[in-house]
Amino acid sequence: MIPVLGIEKLTVAILGLGRSGLTAARAVQAGGGRAVCWDDGAPGRERAGAEGFELRDFTRPGALDDVAMLVTSPGIPHLYPAPHPAIAAALGAGVPVDNDIGLFFRSLAVPEWDSFDVPPRVVAVTGSNGKATTAALIAHLLDAAGREVQLAGNIGRGVLDIDPPGDGGVVVLELSSYQTDLARALTPDIAVFTNLSPDHLDRHAGYGGYLAAKRRLFAEGGPDRAVIGVDETEGLFLAGQIAEGPSDDRVIRVSAARRLAGPGWSVFARKGFLSEYRKGRQVASIDLRGVRGLPGAHNHQNACAAYAVARSLGLAPRVIEQGLHGYAGLPHRSQIVAVRDGVTFVNDSKATNVDSAARALQAFGRIRWICGGLEKGGGLDGLHPHLGNVARAYVIGREAGHFAMGLGQGVEAEICGTMENAVARAVADAQPGETVLLAPAAASFDQYDSFERRGEDFVARLRTLGIGEDIDG
Ligand code: ADP
Repeated sequence: MIPVLGIEKLTVAILGLGRSGLTAARAVQAGGGRAVCWDDGAPGRERAGAEGFELRDFTRPGALDDVAMLVTSPGIPHLYPAPHPAIAAALGAGVPVDNDIGLFFRSLAVPEWDSFDVPPRVVAVTGSNGKATTAALIAHLLDAAGREVQLAGNIGRGVLDIDPPGDGGVVVLELSSYQTDLARALTPDIAVFTNLSPDHLDRHAGYGGYLAAKRRLFAEGGPDRAVIGVDETEGLFLAGQIAEGPSDDRVIRVSAARRLAGPGWSVFARKGFLSEYRKGRQVASIDLRGVRGLPGAHNHQNACAAYAVARSLGLAPRVIEQGLHGYAGLPHRSQIVAVRDGVTFVNDSKATNVDSAARALQAFGRIRWICGGLEKGGGLDGLHPHLGNVARAYVIGREAGHFAMGLGQGVEAEICGTMENAVARAVADAQPGETVLLAPAAASFDQYDSFERRGEDFVARLRTLGIGEDIDG
């Protein structure tokens, strides 16, 4: 637990009582403040009530009169499409609005650090896709090298739930655009930007707002080191804005598409090989093709970003190489869940947007593709250039017919509706050498509570067909 600093004897309103909200309430109390809590859902209120927290509807007149700040959760809109009524009330009353990330950054450093040989460091990872994988990989590499490391944020524990880091400890945070948009303090030592593609645009009033939210990670604190994916113009722009010039090695440029051998510091992956360049010379190279936990060019981008962070923290290339081979991958992200009769089964349920699904389609050979669900804005046109590997699409979701139409003429699509039908059909059709891939390019909420439940259903349907236990078979 990281007790919140600077709120002693103050009343802090906590809106949203999921994992991060409840943790924030506890951390406020641990810091000597008084947490008053609300959640529009009864289960959240019951959880907080059971812990003895005072419940208060912040939209009631006068409810914010004694409140010093309002702390909100990432799932609650704070600006677009419209602020939640409690946030609107706080804004109207001039009460500062923050989140657990802001509280974390203002509370982490303590006087005890003066006696440490190496002060703790915070690595924060943002971007449209690959955040969780990159953050988990960084933590894994450090752990494998014997360093003290904790993983928190969207993945791992709530940020305020971690143990105070020790001498030389590292905290790795995965941060979404909602979190970086709002946090009032945002001061990582190393900031990572993986890539940018359209997502969550309703919450940021379009692409510009979405980028602006992510950019705050680099603008607010001025990190010592910025690791930036430069395969999109926005990444290039960001790197250019932070660096004093092309040889400024506070910026490490990362690419999964091209060779970067300028006078600065860069890490790139091409044809399955990772290369590190400094001052125009190659200093290390790693063959990523046999790294089972990181299949495909998109994961090679994540490997490059994690490698760059690990190098910044003093790990040797050979130590990182060993660590990469020991990385098991995260569930629901390009995860190989079974291999049978020459057919590979991959669960990429986390591919909830067009870009991540497109990356998965590029990562495997001939594909039996299970897709569909709740479409995100922006349409499916972005998938069209990547349908060449698809033998057939098996479309699920309540709007499966509409989704199949969006795929266009470039692919044969079969409307299956349910996961059960889709898995049965794909398994029946799959030939040796092919991959059965769940990469929906859509959210799961029309049929499931979460992408995790959808991925679990995929795996369960395979199991009922006797596929799943023989992963190396
Ligand atoms: P995030 O935390 O940003 O959502 P994840 O690591 O959970 O990222 O991956 C989300 C989805 O994006 C998965 O489908 C995964 O296979 C895919 N993905 C992972 N890394 C990348 C990348 N660098 N570029 C594009 N897609 C990626």
